[in-house]
This record gives sequence, C-alpha cells and structure tokens, in this order.
Amino acid sequence: MQGKIVIEEHFAIPETNGVKNRVVNPYWDGLSSSLVEFESKRLGEMDACGVELAIVSLNAPAVQAIPDVKQAVDVARRANDALAEQVRKRPSRFQGFAALPMQDPEAAAKELQRCVRDFGFKGALVNGYSNTPDAKKALYYDAPEYLSFFEEMQALDVPFYLHPRDPVSTERYDGHPWLIGSAWSFAEETALHALKMMGCGLFDKYPLLQMVLGHMGERIPYDIWRLDHRLQYRHDYPAKQQMAYYLRNNVHITTSGHFRTQTLINAMLEMGSDRVMFAIDYPYEEHARGATWFDGAEISETDRVKIGRWNAAKLFRLNLA
Ligand code: ZN
Repeated sequence: MQGKIVIEEHFAIPETNGVKNRVVNPYWDGLSSSLVEFESKRLGEMDACGVELAIVSLNAPAVQAIPDVKQAVDVARRANDALAEQVRKRPSRFQGFAALPMQDPEAAAKELQRCVRDFGFKGALVNGYSNTPDAKKALYYDAPEYLSFFEEMQALDVPFYLHPRDPVSTERYDGHPWLIGSAWSFAEETALHALKMMGCGLFDKYPLLQMVLGHMGERIPYDIWRLDHRLQYRHDYPAKQQMAYYLRNNVHITTSGHFRTQTLINAMLEMGSDRVMFAIDYPYEEHARGATWFDGAEISETDRVKIGRWNAAKLFRLNLA
C-alpha cells in the first residue's frame, strides 16, 4: 500500500542518545546513528516501503528520566526545537510530537502550547512516568496534579501518546533479566499506567481527551472483557464507565513493533478499525518488516487504507496533498 502514515518513529538529540539498551552492541551502534539521521537512510526506508509521512518523537526514556525539573524543561525544549527544524525542511514527510517535562505539569502544558502553536506539532508523546530526585518516587499522570495539564490537552485538541519505559523497580524480574525491556516489562508497565489513567475518572472529566497506546495497545484490548467482568464486583473502581467504554471512546492504538495479524484482528474486534493506526517504531524496528506484514495482512482493503493512512490523517488533522 502506498501513502502509509507511521506515527511511532523516533529520533534523538545528543543529550538523549547513547543510553545503552540491554541489546548486543552492534545493534545499538546502528540505532544510535539511525536515531539522529533524517536523510537518505530514514527516507530511503520510508520510500521503499510506501510510507509517505512519519510523525516523529523523541527516543525513550529521555526527558522522563531526568530527575531535575529545570534540566528536563531544557532538554525537552531543545529536542522540540531540533525536531521542528526537520519538520520545517520536509513537512510532507515529517511531522512531530512534543517531548514534555511532565515533572512539572505547568511547564509541560506551556511547552505543549508552544509546540502546537509555533511548530504545528500533532500532539505529545510521553515516555511513561517521570522521575523525581527521590529514586523511589515516580510521577504517574492519573494524579490530580495533572488535571490542568489534561484540560489544556483537551482544549488544544491534540492526543497524548503514552510510550513505554521500564518499571520503576525491576526487582520482581530478579534472575530473569531478559524479561526487562521491550520483550515484556515495557508493556506491563505501560498497560498499568494506561489503566490508572482510564480508571481514575480522567476521561469522565475530559471526555474529548484522546490517548494513544503503541504495540497493539500494550495488551489491554486482549484483556478488556476480563477487566470489566471482574471490575463489576468491585466497589472501589472510581470511574463512571466501564473500561471498555474508555477504550472505545478515548483510546487509539498503533501497530508499532507488533506485526501480527491475529493480534491486530483482536484489537479491531474490540475497538473497531477506526481506532487502530499503522506504525513501525523506527529505528528499533525496520520499515520493511512492518510494511511487508501490513500490506499483506488478511484484512479488508477498506480497513487497510483506514489503518494505514486515514485514521491518523483524521485524528491528527494532517494536511495531505
Ligand atoms: Zn517506540
């Protein structure tokens, strides 16, 4: 399929590049250079795979892992300025999501305003919880301190992409370090954070607010029936609606790094094909692998063009030729 739009594609600036993952070194060396590159390699892969436009975001955990608020504000600003420059050069190939210093909700709202107003960014991508000077204390966005931030997001009418990072504590993986990272703990951590936000009443207060989850919804669509089935017996569940209601009215998911038709069809059955969008997760994943799978996935052509292009065009109000 030509004209695809991908929406979980990453870049880095020197301040956020070079945090080594738990992957073999040659893999990381390639990643590090791909993250800072916006020319022939990135564009070449996009061209070869029928990808017209990428909405680009900062790598993870980047700003969220900076305990010092002032430094987080500064790095977010520099990253957003750098991304804006790439968008300015090739607006028909690259658009941007804002990196935000969520350590300070007011500063995050201000930076979001600046990015949407001055750069035309399409929303924010935040890498999970934010660190604080206390290593044991992490900031999750279901907390009441973030209500005014989300009020601003709803007012600006741009989505909030909740992207993975590792859990605050990885003690429960002791002896099994291979479970830490993108194979398992990213989704476990991100699903928990997303469920806190869905269940805390945030979307009752701001019903138009939209959240995006990558990796086929971080396993939530697969578990949504059981969640609501068991929650009906709980008196301590704080939200007004069932979880499935928020999943179908306030959440969108993407195929980033999860190229599996069985999982895609499950998500489409639970959420409808209007709430699923194509994404790669470049450079952690290759365009060729994702695009070859998606172009041949056994779904209807109507769904393919919606998921591959039009759902993102509509949600992010993209000016397409
Ligand atoms: Zn990603």
